[in-house]
Amino acid sequence: SYRKGGYHAVRVADQFAGGRYIAQRKLGWGQFSTVWLAYDTTTSAYVALKIQKSAAQFVQAALHEIDVLTSLSDGADMDSKCVVHLIDHFKHTGPNGQHLCMVLEFLGDSLLRLIKYNRYKGLPLNKVREICKCILIGLDYLHREHGIIHSDLKPENVLLVSTIDPGKDPVRSGLTPILERPEGSINGGGVTSLIEKKLKRRARRAVAKISGRSSPIGGIEAPKSERNLDGIDVRCKVVDFGNACWADKQFAEEIQTRQYRAPEVILHAGYSFSVDMWSFACIAFELATGDMLFTPKDGQGFSEDEDHLALMMELLGKMPRKVATSGAKSKDFFDRHGDLRRIRRLKFWPLSKLLVVRYKFSERDAHEFSEFLSPLLDFAPEKRPTAQQCLQHPWLQGIESTPNEMRNESSVEKVDVGMSNLQIKVGK
Ligand code: ADP
Ligand code: MG
Repeated sequence: SYRKGGYHAVRVADQFAGGRYIAQRKLGWGQFSTVWLAYDTTTSAYVALKIQKSAAQFVQAALHEIDVLTSLSDGADMDSKCVVHLIDHFKHTGPNGQHLCMVLEFLGDSLLRLIKYNRYKGLPLNKVREICKCILIGLDYLHREHGIIHSDLKPENVLLVSTIDPGKDPVRSGLTPILERPEGSINGGGVTSLIEKKLKRRARRAVAKISGRSSPIGGIEAPKSERNLDGIDVRCKVVDFGNACWADKQFAEEIQTRQYRAPEVILHAGYSFSVDMWSFACIAFELATGDMLFTPKDGQGFSEDEDHLALMMELLGKMPRKVATSGAKSKDFFDRHGDLRRIRRLKFWPLSKLLVVRYKFSERDAHEFSEFLSPLLDFAPEKRPTAQQCLQHPWLQGIESTPNEMRNESSVEKVDVGMSNLQIKVGK
């Protein structure tokens, strides 16, 4: 991908925007971009530099993302909004073409990593609550104040906020930025010199220290055995607005990443803000259990879409006929009674029962958590609560005083109730 129209190759200490930003280390990448930790010489702070691929469609996508982020960042106190802050943007010309670059506030690990760190066991419920609250504040800001649908909400796209904010205070975080490449370290042939390696190692340590990449959360080093986030005030922000749209200016019919996709999107029945609420519920479940809520697969005689709809109905009950028949693709999946054409017998497993049996939640935890989630997973999009309404839910009240978690040890071992194995799928 490092060719004409593709990624821009960056080396440690490369300069951007006339020398204002200096590349420190690669943080991550996506389909469209690479993201680097950079030092902002003007503000003496660390930032995340997102460098887009240079082909026309990527430039177009970046312009759109900049457009969305600019309106989100405009005049607001971004610290309280739980949405990533766009600091600056510019063009950078390299051997592969002209790349749009976004300068973003530097954040920590994604929720996906956090879930991995916990070895897919799920986080303590009081932490799930804190994270949920942040995401909801972010969504409320997007939906109500800007009329924007994120449309790709998933654990990778929610990043933790470092507790010590090195972006604002590099001196306190004890880090010296790399400002220039040492003499003799330029290597044209791609062979990494010793100095290059040293530089990389140093940058890696720096990132671990300020983003908490070696520990589950910003800047706090926890022993490997007990990364349980005890005593840490978890905060996070929503990122990646490449697919976001204004509710009244939609451009794509097929939105969202598969597992987090709402039923109306599968049915091509039109969508609005409530698709983000569906994805949010999927994330909340995943945080609490370590498992994705829905992992559809195609099979003999049925498609991934059909499996997805079947899994939803096994958990949430039969889809109301009115909803089932409301989309342009409804006839492909459902008969006129509102039953799936190709997956006939479903095994129903209500959410609270699943939480108790499979994930060893106490009856009370399971009841409270499913009371919170179930309304968000309403098949009828207009019946789902808004982010604002969700923030008022009893489950999210009094987080600070919540005692340490009550789930028992055996939650490590999941009991496989064979939820979807019992589906009887009938081929055409
Ligand atoms: P794409 O649109 O190409 O998917 P993303 O915006 O999702 O790009 O960024 C790609 C990756 O870069 C993310 O998954 C994350 O690991 C990292 N990243 C993005 N933004 C930041 C940031 N502000 N701070 C730290 N890391 C970031
Ligand atoms: Mg992404």
